[in-house]
Amino acid sequence: MSEQFQAPTVSANLASAVLPAFFDLPPALTRRLKDCKTLPSMPGAVLEVLKVARDPDASLSDYTHAIERDPALTVRFLSLANSALYRGSKKKVTICQDAVIRLGTDATIAAVLSFSLLGGKQSTTTYTYIWQRAVIATLSIQCLSEHFLCQSQARQLFTAALLQDIGVMALHEIAPPYAEILEIYLRDHEALCAQEKSLFGCDHAAIGAWLLKSMGIPENLAILVAQSHGSNEAIQTSLLCLQLSGSIADAWLSPTPQKCFRELVTHHPALKPKLLANLLDHLQKQLPPIAQLFNFVMPPMLNSEVLLAEAKQLLHERNQQLQLLLKREQEKSIALQEQNTLLDHQSRTDLLTGIANRAYLEKKLALFFEQASTGQDTLSVIFIDLDHFKQLNDNFGHQVGDDVLRQFAKLLSGLAVEKKHSAGKLQDIMVGRYGGEEFLVLLSQQPPVQAEHLANQLNHALLTTTMLEISGQPLKISASIGIASMSDAIFQTPIELIEAADRSMYLAKRSGRGRTILFDGNR
Ligand code: GH3
Ligand code: MG
Ligand code: MG
Repeated sequence: MSEQFQAPTVSANLASAVLPAFFDLPPALTRRLKDCKTLPSMPGAVLEVLKVARDPDASLSDYTHAIERDPALTVRFLSLANSALYRGSKKKVTICQDAVIRLGTDATIAAVLSFSLLGGKQSTTTYTYIWQRAVIATLSIQCLSEHFLCQSQARQLFTAALLQDIGVMALHEIAPPYAEILEIYLRDHEALCAQEKSLFGCDHAAIGAWLLKSMGIPENLAILVAQSHGSNEAIQTSLLCLQLSGSIADAWLSPTPQKCFRELVTHHPALKPKLLANLLDHLQKQLPPIAQLFNFVMPPMLNSEVLLAEAKQLLHERNQQLQLLLKREQEKSIALQEQNTLLDHQSRTDLLTGIANRAYLEKKLALFFEQASTGQDTLSVIFIDLDHFKQLNDNFGHQVGDDVLRQFAKLLSGLAVEKKHSAGKLQDIMVGRYGGEEFLVLLSQQPPVQAEHLANQLNHALLTTTMLEISGQPLKISASIGIASMSDAIFQTPIELIEAADRSMYLAKRSGRGRTILFDGNR
């Protein structure tokens, strides 16, 4: 024996995905199928092979003897084993037993059935189409299973592809009105199935599966036939190959193959141009010998170059669309980020002066306070209240008051930035507007003397800086400042620290304004 015999196995996961209900046809249909004497009309040798298939103890020799009863069948069977479908790089087989070994029992049964079912009927359009479809699908499966790496299931998939539309023939035999449906929908498999479901309660895949099972053909094979349509959207790659193979055959046999292949490539991103190129090439080369072997009318040959060029163009367009979409998404995401940054900034900023608002000041203070409470860090709060601001408003108007607040915020921020740089720690000084004409400076991780120093700098700057000129007259302001540091007393909360600074500021007011007072816990 030159090759190892492979037992007919369909992987457990394929079979387990299917419920027994697959073989439950509507009762009326089952009766008609059972009563149908012409279906399928089998020569003696084929009936013998089916009998062997039903026998669980059958040996390979039993299959061989059954086939050899019919010399014509034997010759075609040998040709099939040596064809592109099964030979691969193996050497030519010359005896029936080696052919059976090469195909395995599933494929042997399928081949015998295929040959016999074609017998005498291949001249009708329906039968010709069905077998053309089956063979194109089977050839496609070779490429697909190799590409999608499910070669281990390739044998079962070939066989299922070859027998997938056997149910159409059965319906053709048992329901004469079906011929009219076929005439209209034969080339549109999806529409045909829809019609079958509405007329018979199931489609030809279910009928084919039932039929194969009733013939005694291994159940797993019948289950694959039941799954040959795309209704099981699961799905394993192997089933995808099987279902895709039918669609490829439909596209090839369509009066508008270009359009159909374009649709296929669009719906199946996995069908890349390189795979399609291999597939079309394989079909071009292998269809003629296989058509001859199965003795059916050769399907029309297609110009694969044109088809490929189309597929490539389509892929190019799809890539461009994807890139455009990606670009738009990126733009959207950047815009969203910018918007978020802006919102974030707005939520932290005082609208009038552009420095931190009260909420953000309090948040930062809580953080600094926590750091200062747990570690060695120091923290000082400078509380600044502009002097006689009500009067300023009354004298020059609210608008001038606003301008002065803005100018003051700028001056204070400038001093704070200078201090940050001189301290060498950029994160630790924060300036904000606490409310009205009150401002806070938070100094974290810096000695309290730095706070005092900054306050003095501010008072000095206010003495020398003209805030605004009104009618040529310089407008200057002063501020009362209070400072409290964590080291001045035991502060339980950040608010206590602010209150201490506020109290010192109030003392500065009472002491004549325009000055700084440090918190003293004993006062
Ligand atoms: P003192 O020296 O005691 O601090 O006197 P003051 O007038 O500065 O204090 P007071 O609390 O009596 O008045 C604060 C004034 O600040 C009253 C209010 O109209 C003014 N003010 C608060 N917020 C703004 C603002 O956003 N713009 C303007 N223009 N004025 C404001
Ligand atoms: Mg005030
Ligand atoms: Mg004031």
